[in-house]
Amino acid sequence: MAVEDNQQKDRTHRTELQLTCPACGGVGAFSTWDCIDGGENAEMRRRVLHDEGLFFYQCPHCHSQIHVESPCLYVDKHKKFMVWHIPDPKTPVTSEDVRSFLGGDSFAEYRCRAALTWGEWREKIIEIESGYDDRLYEIIKYGAYQLVKEGDREKLPLEAYHIDLTEGGGSEDVSLVFLERDRKGMGYVYDITPKAKEVTSDIFLPLLERIPAMNEMGRFDRFSYSWAQQFMAQVLKAASSGQEAYSQLLGFWVQTLGKELFHAEIQPAE
Ligand SMILES: [Zn+2]
Repeated sequence: MAVEDNQQKDRTHRTELQLTCPACGGVGAFSTWDCIDGGENAEMRRRVLHDEGLFFYQCPHCHSQIHVESPCLYVDKHKKFMVWHIPDPKTPVTSEDVRSFLGGDSFAEYRCRAALTWGEWREKIIEIESGYDDRLYEIIKYGAYQLVKEGDREKLPLEAYHIDLTEGGGSEDVSLVFLERDRKGMGYVYDITPKAKEVTSDIFLPLLERIPAMNEMGRFDRFSYSWAQQFMAQVLKAASSGQEAYSQLLGFWVQTLGKELFHAEIQPAE
């Protein structure tokens, strides 16, 4: 008779870190998580998405608030994805580590991603949960930033530019958020429309699917803005080396992004 082991269901796991406060040098203990099971633990999933204080440590000596970047695996067994927050890219990631978190379960069918910061980690979870390809979101993000005027990029730095849930929308509704440098929480929000997603998917998905290394399940890949930048450099190179139809397609894509995201008419790229 098969007995379901309910205790093993929620993989959420706490861990305690010894920290030295960068402000006063005092030592303290910080209780945090090294695994969050968003598929089984709705409250933790909610906190990951909406609680901005989740990974803050308060120094018991000088009361400084410190954002602590420490490794944490986010897993959703139902949606079949994992995002590993690995602040130090040199940290070795082994399949054994992941398998032990999952109690020996195989994750060969999972979409696996790596992220270097909590912000990037949360963004990946939002992207994947929305049901659209996270690699295509990174391409949209890259394309949209190219449309920001040179002078405005100084004011709207790349580090603060990200994808977030659309306020008042469902989990499939996401927006591009440009935050201003030096003005906390101030910025611009643009909905990513279904048309923008559709056109991006039509143009770029066939290209992505042709590259086996970009489609491996069960391997922790990092698809970020800088990945999209490198990918687009290759696409542009191919387009400029005589593939006329491709240049036209890219021009159409840029125009679509301008119209759909910024409601602006963009001149076709030369
Ligand atoms: Zn302190």
